[in-house]
Amino acid sequence: MELFLQTGRSTLTLAKQLNSLIYPDMHKASPLPLTLYPDEVLKTPGSKISPREREEMRELALRMTETMYHEHGVGLAAQQIGKALRICVIDVDGTLHTLINPKITSFSKDMHTDEEGCLSIPKKFFPLTRHWKVTVRYEDLDGNTKKLRASGLLARAVQHELDHLQGIVVLDRYHEQKGNR
Ligand SMILES: [Zn+2]
Repeated sequence: MELFLQTGRSTLTLAKQLNSLIYPDMHKASPLPLTLYPDEVLKTPGSKISPREREEMRELALRMTETMYHEHGVGLAAQQIGKALRICVIDVDGTLHTLINPKITSFSKDMHTDEEGCLSIPKKFFPLTRHWKVTVRYEDLDGNTKKLRASGLLARAVQHELDHLQGIVVLDRYHEQKGNR
């Protein structure tokens, strides 16, 4: 998991520069306080975001992104800033993904185990087995339905954040996998 975090950190500056070009308003967004485990909202599945709510999501996504970079994370789900909504942001390599109402549509059979951390459970790492590749269908901020094919670290981040959107944290996954061993 050190690798997970290190990767995020080394690309952080570049990601910030790139994203301030893409999102010129970024500097106006201030980071939000993080929700920490065992807050109830982290156990609450997010509600689906309707087209009517999409405009508000622009501002929320901006603040979530700023919070993720501020905290040196590579992903952040709405639950982690106290909102049970189906939206998350991910950036593992300088490319920002904002996923609204995401759903994993396919998983690879090959699995991979690595140490995984979470901003809501500071300084703790859990060995977790995840699918090496996933395909996720989601809506972007303009309401377009898109598909993301992810592998490795990005696939792990997608699975981690989508778990949050269902009210599941790494600790739950860890206990579940430990129980199955
Ligand atoms: Zn997390």
